[in-house]
Amino acid sequence: MSSYTVGILGGGQLGRMTVEAAHRLNIKVAILDSESAPAKQINLVAADKHVTGSFAKASDVKVLASRCDVLTYEIEHVDTKVLEELEEEQPFVEGTEWYRIQPSWKTVRTIQDKFVQKSHLAKFDIPTAKSIAVGTSHPQGLKDIADQIGFPLMLKSRTEAYDGRGNYPVKTVSDIEPALKALADRPLYAEKWAHFKMELAVMVVKTAQEASIDSWESSTLAYPTVETIHEDSICKLVYAPPRDVSKKVTEAAQQLARRAVSTFLGTGVFGVELFLLADDSLVVNEIAPRPHNSGHYTIEACGMSQYEAHIKAILPDQASRIPEGATDLSVGAAIMLNILGGPQPDSHLLVEDAARDVPGAHVHMYGKGDGRPGRKMGHITVTGFSMSECENKIHSLVQMVDAVRA
Ligand code: ATP
Ligand code: MG
Ligand code: MG
Repeated sequence: MSSYTVGILGGGQLGRMTVEAAHRLNIKVAILDSESAPAKQINLVAADKHVTGSFAKASDVKVLASRCDVLTYEIEHVDTKVLEELEEEQPFVEGTEWYRIQPSWKTVRTIQDKFVQKSHLAKFDIPTAKSIAVGTSHPQGLKDIADQIGFPLMLKSRTEAYDGRGNYPVKTVSDIEPALKALADRPLYAEKWAHFKMELAVMVVKTAQEASIDSWESSTLAYPTVETIHEDSICKLVYAPPRDVSKKVTEAAQQLARRAVSTFLGTGVFGVELFLLADDSLVVNEIAPRPHNSGHYTIEACGMSQYEAHIKAILPDQASRIPEGATDLSVGAAIMLNILGGPQPDSHLLVEDAARDVPGAHVHMYGKGDGRPGRKMGHITVTGFSMSECENKIHSLVQMVDAVRA
């Protein structure tokens, strides 16, 4: 491939799996995160380039930038001001005209504030749930908003949200005060409730730098549409392909996801979360400018994983060389099950242990140490000729995950 070093802001499980893909391609990866972050544990090749610190701290980001050719993310909650400065100083990878921050910090700045993200998508007629900024944390403000969009609504933090930490369902007027209390001191917006019949997701690879919705067909590739099951706002299961969804809908989801991603500057993979409504119409829930939980299954189930695609898409000499069909399913079906932390620090290890007895269960543990309830500790993917074969294989493990969480 090339001799470039990639720097990643963040070293959790997404960074760790990106490192696995990069190793196979002989690409060095430098990680900015705490000392024993998951992505650092398995990455000795570039150990001298890792930075101990935080992706939210300007001086740490500068050190990482000085040690790599291309900068990318595994999390969107990063300091974009310092990235803006770094781009002014040195926009391109040395010896090329390829932007070295991929995707662009402008993309991350838009996406990291969910309300700004939704306003951006609205400009391009990409459907989203109706959203209204909550200018004041005074209950009356939210009551007025509820008059406009109705109950139930989802009160959401505009920033720093993940795994539903930042969401509060407001079902009636009596939920308003507890909701504002739970999300106190965070910038908020209210979202109209989406009465979806299913949640879908599509991983999109953006291979062209420019942002242009008109060129979505040439600037993006789509992975298959998948079905995601969330519990308590945390992703639990991913089914590829979705169960009982028509080809018309899965293709419409891919097209909508590609059109949405084409509006953002820069390259890389993007995770697009969608709601499928009762009338088979689709709305975008949110977009992540990075590899995504709903794309873990691509490691075993597609010709090229989302992690390998991300590495290729951000490098100057590889982005346009992702072969036709590489993002297609290479198996009949796949199911991905998240292993979440339970009440005890080692509760999740029960699931890991049981998975060893399931033939063909691909177990990925993240090296996070102690579990906490709802913390993503690992995942399991099974593949097969059919969805029912996959369901039979993983059934007992799903039951065990449920028991651990109970
Ligand atoms: P992630 O870990 O995916 O980044 P997050 O904290 O950013 O999660 P969202 O994706 O906004 O949170 O919401 C999490 C889940 O909450 C969704 O997948 C969906 O199940 C539910 N949800 C979010 N918004 C709405 C809505 N407007 N109506 C109904 N359900 C919703
Ligand atoms: Mg999110
Ligand atoms: Mg989400």
